[in-house]
Amino acid sequence: MTEPSIFTRILTGDIPGEIIASTDRLFAIRDIAPQAPVHLLVIPKTEQYRDVVELAAGDPTLLAELIAFANTIAAEHSDGDFRLLFNTGANSGQTVFHVHAHILAGGLTEKSVGA
Ligand code: 5GP
Repeated sequence: MTEPSIFTRILTGDIPGEIIASTDRLFAIRDIAPQAPVHLLVIPKTEQYRDVVELAAGDPTLLAELIAFANTIAAEHSDGDFRLLFNTGANSGQTVFHVHAHILAGGLTEKSVGA
């Protein structure tokens, strides 16, 4: 058995972390190390998909739900405009291999696409 991911441990209450919104299949938290005025993570409750490529292939409906959920949360926490980022692979900076999207919003001034 592999260990549950850090996000699963937050979801189950095993470690602290405020869940700011959820649906039946997704939840959202604030990033612990924000890289933008608003930096949220949107995460499927299942950790069966390591990254967005696996999610798109395995459950495209869930990926579409994730994007719609991100849009709703961005509107609640900022002005509705947002950057959606999926690090994919260790060399991209991915550190948690339980697929998640970064929502970056709130006064993004530079044109960089990075987090
Ligand atoms: P990745 O680098 O895999 O794309 O993103 C993982 C993100 O999870 C990082 O931005 C990191 O700051 C965040 N993170 C890691 N551990 C925790 C934690 O315990 N709580 C919260 N809220 N965020 C975390």
